[in-house]
Amino acid sequence: QGKTYQFKLVLLGESAVGKSRYEIMDAAILVMRFVKDHFDEYRESTIGAAFLAQTVTLDDDTTVKFEIWDTAGQERYKSLAPMYYRNANCAVVVYDITQASSLDKAKSWVNELQRQADPNIVIALAGNKVDLEAKRAVETKTAQEYADECGLLFVETSAKTAYNVNELFDAIAKRMPLE
Ligand code: GDP
Ligand code: MG
Repeated sequence: QGKTYQFKLVLLGESAVGKSRYEIMDAAILVMRFVKDHFDEYRESTIGAAFLAQTVTLDDDTTVKFEIWDTAGQERYKSLAPMYYRNANCAVVVYDITQASSLDKAKSWVNELQRQADPNIVIALAGNKVDLEAKRAVETKTAQEYADECGLLFVETSAKTAYNVNELFDAIAKRMPLE
């Protein structure tokens, strides 16, 4: 029987990039492919965050559980309180590949995390909505180079089709310090 580890993961990014879509993907896909154990969502009124759990099982039978924190949309109106990401072990900073400005916003989140969050935080940059390839405004290479420079994981996803969503969480799980 392998060990189990639990981490707090925060979702960050401009409004409408698809953060919550990772959370509320089509129920069948979500249940079958995304959340293996349970889907447990509630609103924590003090910080307005929802969370659910995502479990990844690694090859060696180690289980990595992510407690995923999503905003209730406050990013639309004001900046998020640092307490939202304070104890986060990992972060997924999301942008929309069809909106170049959302990558700028993602970069500012990465800066803020690198200055203010736990120094050991694992950060993944996710270029979402790749199903909208015809409307692409951010080249893969541009984002990949930025991610490499900053030491971030990088994945392009579609939360609509579930493309690369499991891969995103698997990649984070593999990078977490498991001692
Ligand atoms: P949030 O504000 O970052 O939480 O964004 P939401 O998850 O609420 O998504 C904003 C809109 O984009 C919704 O209409 C979603 O259905 C849509 N959306 C999210 N992810 C994708 C995606 O991968 N592809 C497409 N085509 N639409 C998406
Ligand atoms: Mg949202």
